[in-house]
Amino acid sequence: MSKRRAKWVVGNWKMNGRLAENEALLQALASGGEAYSDVHIGVCVPTPYLAQAESLLKGAMVAWGVQDISAHPQGAYTGEVSAEMAVDFGATLAIVGHSERRAYHAESSELVAVKAQRALQAGLTPIVCVGETLEERESGATQDIVGAQLDAVLARLAEHELARIIVAYEPVWAIGTGKSATAAEAQEVHAFLRARLVAKSAAIADVPLLYGGSVKPENAEALFGQADIDGGLIGGASLKSLDFLAICAAAQAVSSAR
Ligand code: PEP
Repeated sequence: MSKRRAKWVVGNWKMNGRLAENEALLQALASGGEAYSDVHIGVCVPTPYLAQAESLLKGAMVAWGVQDISAHPQGAYTGEVSAEMAVDFGATLAIVGHSERRAYHAESSELVAVKAQRALQAGLTPIVCVGETLEERESGATQDIVGAQLDAVLARLAEHELARIIVAYEPVWAIGTGKSATAAEAQEVHAFLRARLVAKSAAIADVPLLYGGSVKPENAEALFGQADIDGGLIGGASLKSLDFLAICAAAQAVSSAR
């Protein structure tokens, strides 16, 4: 299976979930995920629940990971969690640079690039998020904003590292609002990001580009059917097993039609 034929569907639970409800959700994903062999499925859970994810997803077709990592390998960084700690619990994925981290924790694109590199050094696949606000879109600055966010990562990482990242385009105005970008709007930005990768090196042309922002069962197939959209990063809908699995089914339908 070529790297880009298989779609990705990764859940971002954010700060949601408790032991009992997680158990039902993870069990549903572990059994339901089996049907989607052409899809890379993953869930990024709150860090305290990594052990629970490991115990319930081990051996299933669903990977798990974290929503952020420290830029440091270890030491006096109270409250932070290192990439290696996540790896201790079987994590393989780490979201870095989510817009909520950029907005509420003042994370710069340079810091996000450091975190992406830390993730790779620990053996995690970083999912690097980029995206513009509504004001930025309306002022015509979308490409400048997402281009600069991506450039920080392109500047820091070596080519062999870049070949192992995932990028998620998540327009801030579409996150948690119910208002998704249209498939054409998302494709336009993805094509721009793909061209930016290729301009850096043809060797990273296949970096998976995920779309995130109010992906639902109803719009997933149209989004995933776009030439440069390799799957989705799913927030709200990843908390409901039926919705999340329906999005996986949409990804499978598009993957197997290719
Ligand atoms: C997200 O925050 O990563 C996200 C895509 O959220 P939602 O699907 O709820 O818009």
